[in-house]
Amino acid sequence: MNFLARQKKLRGQLAPAGLDGLLVSHLPNIRYLCGFTGSAGFLVVRETGSVFFTDVRYDTQSRAEVKGAKVMIARKAVLNALGEWVGGHQKRSKGRTLGIEAEHLTVAERKRLAGLLPTGLRLRSAPPLVERLRMVKESDELELIKAAVRLGATLFERALEVLRPGLKEAEVAAEMEYAARRAGAEEMSFPTIIASGARSALPHGRATDQAIAAGGFVVCDFGVILAGYCSDQTRTVWVGAKSEEACYAYQSVREAQQTAIAAVRPGTTVGEVDAAARKVLRKAGLGRYFTHSTGHGVGLEIHEAPKVAAGQTEILRPGMVITIEPGVYFPGKWGVRIEDMVAVTEDGCEVLTPTGKDFLAV
Ligand code: ZN
Ligand code: ZN
Repeated sequence: MNFLARQKKLRGQLAPAGLDGLLVSHLPNIRYLCGFTGSAGFLVVRETGSVFFTDVRYDTQSRAEVKGAKVMIARKAVLNALGEWVGGHQKRSKGRTLGIEAEHLTVAERKRLAGLLPTGLRLRSAPPLVERLRMVKESDELELIKAAVRLGATLFERALEVLRPGLKEAEVAAEMEYAARRAGAEEMSFPTIIASGARSALPHGRATDQAIAAGGFVVCDFGVILAGYCSDQTRTVWVGAKSEEACYAYQSVREAQQTAIAAVRPGTTVGEVDAAARKVLRKAGLGRYFTHSTGHGVGLEIHEAPKVAAGQTEILRPGMVITIEPGVYFPGKWGVRIEDMVAVTEDGCEVLTPTGKDFLAV
């Protein structure tokens, strides 16, 4: 990872955004910019250089990991050390503006920081500069994402081995998560969703102690983190003998998902991709059961920019990695979702998820 190049790109965007510096407080952004993987720290990026602040617990780790920034170990509250340092190193503070990540700094932190800074230095909510850089993945990031996706996909094979009527949802999730750790995953990218029967109609139905029953769908939505990068995948299977109605719902979602994938290419907006999936389900008479957006970016975070949703105008560029995950949900009855991760290429997209999409019954 070329952390210096990333910081250089960010520096080039400070002045156009009206900022003299940026206080980066969102940990995935800090990791992206300087490589720090711990759970506490702040990074200040200015024209003249970058400084990373953390506490004594991360003394050794930060010195080993952080690239392209001076490391300061705070002996007291990290924010106080940061405030004092900025005060001491900003010779002319009058009229200067330090950008903050408003989505990732608490109201209390902002207030405390304002009290520590020299008068004349303003704090201002910055646009999501780092998130925008992170949207387009570098080639080594793509390799890491592909490795995470490949590992993640093996969990579905494990699910199919164990899934049967009578087993609890949580037992299926446990088998998958155990297999993930055994295969080298750092952790799950989110709590595994195994939603059976009427619970499959909950788009985010976490695995419970409900026993899986015949005659319904099981939505399996899962992902792993490998080398910091997330995977995200959904497959839906049927338990018992398939009904015609279930086949229709499944095949409609599958067609919507494939149509949306076919729409992914540079120059297209994410809103157009969302519309492609929605159109198929509307034509199938299922439009009003597709209640969420079509997808989202994935990388160091399980949900990151861009949102693949109705009306969103972000234009796809090569290197972006997004999910395509339409679904239909009949409250109290059942739900179906199919989700793959795709990478935008120069002339279209590459589907990263290797798992087949035939309608399976267990
Ligand atoms: Zn998912
Ligand atoms: Zn997703």
